[in-house]
Amino acid sequence: MAHRLKSRFRQSDTLARIAGDEFALILDHVQTWSDADTAAQSVLEVLKTPFEIEDHVIRVTASIGISLFPDHGNEGGQLLQQADCAMFAAKRNGKNRIVHYGDGLGSAARERLTLEGELRRAIENGDIDVHYQPEFDLSTNTITRFEALARWTHPKLGRISPVSFIPVAEESGLIVPLGAYVMERACADATTWQRKANRPIQVAVNVSSVQFARDTFLEEVEEVLRRTGLKPSLLQLELTESATLTGLERAADLMRRLTGRGIGIAMDDFGTGYSCLSYLPKLAFDALKLDRSFVNELAVRPETRAFVQSILLMAHNLHMKVIVEGIETVEQLELMRSLGTDEAQGFLLGRPTPNPMEMLSGSGNAARPIREMEAVAGL
Ligand code: C2E
Ligand code: MG
Ligand code: MG
Repeated sequence: MAHRLKSRFRQSDTLARIAGDEFALILDHVQTWSDADTAAQSVLEVLKTPFEIEDHVIRVTASIGISLFPDHGNEGGQLLQQADCAMFAAKRNGKNRIVHYGDGLGSAARERLTLEGELRRAIENGDIDVHYQPEFDLSTNTITRFEALARWTHPKLGRISPVSFIPVAEESGLIVPLGAYVMERACADATTWQRKANRPIQVAVNVSSVQFARDTFLEEVEEVLRRTGLKPSLLQLELTESATLTGLERAADLMRRLTGRGIGIAMDDFGTGYSCLSYLPKLAFDALKLDRSFVNELAVRPETRAFVQSILLMAHNLHMKVIVEGIETVEQLELMRSLGTDEAQGFLLGRPTPNPMEMLSGSGNAARPIREMEAVAGL
């Protein structure tokens, strides 16, 4: 990519790779928007020819954001930030396009920039909280683990959903400190549960592919376990399919190391990705978390039932458990149970809460399994 880009520009221009898939280009002969557009157009042009890597034909497109000096600032950081903002708008508008900072820039990009700044402040100030949602074993009706979910309450804007701030955190790299904070809190909290529950209760922590791609990921997890004193077997990491995009070999190796230490790994949002299933046997997943869209579809599309049954069969043959997400009704619960799902999570069974221990039946009383689901969900 760098070679191709270089071939199009002058010696006096500056080309830099600033992040995994982000390049910055400084052109000092540009006078007008149209000069900048010509240059940007030639970037799109040079990428039109597919790349050939190890017999694979790879097509890439670019999203380009442009800021102009001195119209958009006379300081490097500011110019870069505004170009970044325009690039984000280009991505939002369907990729493979050029967007100028300024006039046409949608409010989405501005909002995103504000959100990023606010999120950075929130992480520094400790305004991020962790709530926990229970997951139940469907053969015993007891809580097996709690999933840690980040919560952000902004002093002025109120609650902001992870669905909005997690993508911003991933794009900006803020997911690294945010994810580390959630992991630390979750593991520390989970150590206190063990004493209160009198039986092993796992904690599940969502791991972004950005975190998983870091070379230091394994050491960071080990460090947290050491500091908090949590047993590795009480931690389950939730990865999404995108985590494997850093390369199947690397992902497989890293996952083997993690599971080798006793740490559990579940695949989150299973069934929503696009890659082929053949990678699954190569990866050391303990469980698949079936995305909640399947639960919703079960009611309206009869074919979904066969599909879910096949996933269960496949998972069980690979010695993986199936956890279903998003159970909202008794009918959904009983259908998934009858199909042979191992574990379940959903608003019916318990919403995310800051005080998960209140959900455990008569703390320390392991002889009341059915009551636990009764007590929490009224079932
Ligand atoms: P997820 O990991 O798939 O988490 C499950 C989401 O589904 C949570 O949303 C949960 O509140 C919601 N949910 C659970 N049961 C039900 C139900 O019965 N019905 C419906 N409609 N929703 C249900 P939440 O907390 O808004 O989190 C959204 C996503 O944000 C998470 O999806 C996860 O991908 C991400 N996320 C949250 N916290 C973190 C974190 O600390 N790190 C990372 N990397 N991602 C996180
Ligand atoms: Mg999750
Ligand atoms: Mg999920």
